[in-house]
Amino acid sequence: MLAAVFPEPHQLTVSEISDPTPGPGEVLVAVKAAGVCGTDVHIYEGDFIGAYPVIPGHEFSGDVVALGEGVATAAVGDRVAVQPCLFCETCDYCAAGEGNFCRDLKAYGVHVNGGFADYCVVRAANLVRLGDLSYLAGALLEPLACCIHGIKQLGVVPGDNVVVFGSGPIGLMLAQLARNGGAAMVTVVDPVLDKLAVAAALSMDHALTPTEFQAQRERLAPGGFHLAIDATGVAAVAESLFGVVRDRGRVLFFGVCPQQARISVSPYDVYKRELKVSGTFSLFGEMDAAVRLARSGRVELEKLVSERLPLLAFQTALTRKSRGGNELKIVLEPGT
Ligand SMILES: [Zn+2]
Ligand SMILES: [Zn+2]
Repeated sequence: MLAAVFPEPHQLTVSEISDPTPGPGEVLVAVKAAGVCGTDVHIYEGDFIGAYPVIPGHEFSGDVVALGEGVATAAVGDRVAVQPCLFCETCDYCAAGEGNFCRDLKAYGVHVNGGFADYCVVRAANLVRLGDLSYLAGALLEPLACCIHGIKQLGVVPGDNVVVFGSGPIGLMLAQLARNGGAAMVTVVDPVLDKLAVAAALSMDHALTPTEFQAQRERLAPGGFHLAIDATGVAAVAESLFGVVRDRGRVLFFGVCPQQARISVSPYDVYKRELKVSGTFSLFGEMDAAVRLARSGRVELEKLVSERLPLLAFQTALTRKSRGGNELKIVLEPGT
């Protein structure tokens, strides 16, 4: 099969390798769509404690084409997406229902071969049924599940004025979830006009450049926003959120800032203004909710895809992703 491989950090090959075989409890998935994510760039750069060599790709969908021994919950021909996390299911965090902090957390496309290949072996227990969803939408279910996990951290209270910084696929999923959660107004901020156009196409209340936001914020949300979300991973943007929310406001850090980045926060402000601050890491148990939201159409996923490329174009996609250009989600389609 054709597969993209990171043999070690900073190395990428896309070449023919032998087809994998599903073991007991596993199935073979013919990958139809696989989303390129910032995490793939981190694995390429060697920032994550991944295992090498590895086939990256943790956001993917396809068809079940073969079953390993003892698989009763899937059938050949099933259209599926994959929940990529491999929880140990025995540690204290897993037992507490906090598996994203599993002491032995692994994931397809990070530590175990993932979806940037014609085929991928996956545990049957990690399959999610697509129903009538497209493969393309199926490839965006994992990031949507992460966004649901994020929104659950601080909630959306009906009537909230919400601002999301970053009009990429993640920002626009979070913005849609906030609107569904009862926000009175959702504002999306991004310097790239092409991305703001997608926010506008998704009927967000306001899609503004940072300059426009500064000029209009007090009129839009007098005294500040109830909930401010960073989906940029830019430390200066994350720092600015404290000045954007009202007293008793909530600040959510979703974007992945560089590990060594530092920001200045006044503990007095957090105390005096009763600010709530939360991070959000990965997902745990949100894939089914993601499928329901995508199938209902209440979260639109296909509009977040800006490019569909063959597997051979992975290097191009990775370079574009690491540069942070104008694109939204880039999806690779093995077999095309
Ligand atoms: Zn991802
Ligand atoms: Zn565990």
